[in-house]
Amino acid sequence: MDLKELCKKFKAYAPHVDTSLLEKAFLFSAKAHTNQNRASGEHYFVHCEAVADTLVEFKLDMPTIAAGLLHDVLEDTPVNAETLRREFGEEITCLVEGVTKLDALQFSSQDQAQAENWRKMLLATAQDIRVILIKLADRLHNMKTLNFLDRDHQLRIAHETISLYAPLAHRLGMFELKSELEDLAFQFLHPKEYQELSTKILAQMAGRQAALNSFKKTLEEHLKSSGIPYRLLSRTKSLYSIYEKMNRQNKPFEEIQDALGVRIIADTLADCYAILGIVHAVFKPVAGSFTDYISIPKMNLYQSLHTTVVAATGDLTEVQIRTEDMHRTAEYGIAAHWKYKSGEKDKENPHLEEKLNWLRQWIEWLQDLKSPREFLESLKTDLELNQVFVFTPRGDVKALPAGATPIDFAFAVHTDIGYTCVGAKVNNKMMKLDHVLKSGDVCDILTRKGSVPKKDWLLIVKTARARSKIRHYLREKGVVT
Ligand code: MN
Repeated sequence: MDLKELCKKFKAYAPHVDTSLLEKAFLFSAKAHTNQNRASGEHYFVHCEAVADTLVEFKLDMPTIAAGLLHDVLEDTPVNAETLRREFGEEITCLVEGVTKLDALQFSSQDQAQAENWRKMLLATAQDIRVILIKLADRLHNMKTLNFLDRDHQLRIAHETISLYAPLAHRLGMFELKSELEDLAFQFLHPKEYQELSTKILAQMAGRQAALNSFKKTLEEHLKSSGIPYRLLSRTKSLYSIYEKMNRQNKPFEEIQDALGVRIIADTLADCYAILGIVHAVFKPVAGSFTDYISIPKMNLYQSLHTTVVAATGDLTEVQIRTEDMHRTAEYGIAAHWKYKSGEKDKENPHLEEKLNWLRQWIEWLQDLKSPREFLESLKTDLELNQVFVFTPRGDVKALPAGATPIDFAFAVHTDIGYTCVGAKVNNKMMKLDHVLKSGDVCDILTRKGSVPKKDWLLIVKTARARSKIRHYLREKGVVT
């Protein structure tokens, strides 16, 4: 994709926005990455263009796309933040810095619980959700070009994608992106199963296509005569979600029934239910298969009517019915709700205002949806600002309350480490034991055999765990009662 095409795609949804910074970012990044190649042998800038292209597809705003083009210049080129700030201003620079900061964190543990901490940390440390959208676009292109790396790297990155980035995309409601990331990772993590399953699906598709076509034909006849406007789409379940379902239900591929189906996009909410009535009048629904995710949206805001019906051929076919808006949310999730602002800013503090707007919009949008309470609850945990995430030197993450100290961290790692703790290195610097830890800090606890907890520690610690362990020790020694 070239600059002209990028601007054209952008103008298609943001016709009144000035693209001069976008053009500048394109040329600046291309120049900064001159003489750098990717493992594929391609010019490095191809990667930056691909990231920008994905962000344009999400219909994001100009600063996000410019930052997408520039996302690797701080890390991989001699360009520094000062230059970036001078050339592109605060907002774009902050986004690039955010992505660079996330890149510096490496996910090293294989543990699922760690992945959950990581997801929370990503959400909490990227103060601007657009940083995460850029990171996801970056990961998508890296996954698409993963075959050029060696096997060890492939496994590490694919594992990180499936346990961290795909669930993050899912949490943000970006279902298409989540499936794409999962299928790409699946291919590298379980090549044999991936191969087998794709072969089977191709064979089934060929066999079932005729049946599906006749199903669609009957359906269309009835929909047309009803006069309700609609769009009919075919859908295939993603490979990885079939694989997961086979494992979860312990069933062979042949018994997975919703691998193929149709999706009907309607104009209005009322039309969705009217169409559902037609579908059920024409085809016999499978008892218990109907789910109304419109009245009760899923946690990630997905909305749709789902029903499985029996086709004339006897095949079971899943039908999903939703409006255009719901469809866009199902595909792009949170990115679908980025409303393009045409440039009116609070003169006092334009950047802060924009950041707040973004978050405010997100929260308003959540509240609009008749309070899906669990989602708000989970969002609260995700954005828990009074939590910090601190790393062990091995890369494991510990979630601690804000204000936590190296002593809290030591007890979070292991009771014995807490007991014998004598000092701490934070990001390779010696710090006092009452030092307040920040998200992203790497903390290395120094211990001495025979050393014991001090009474003063009770005044310093923030976690219940550390407090109770210290009290327990001191009580046994008769120091406190
Ligand atoms: Mn990158």
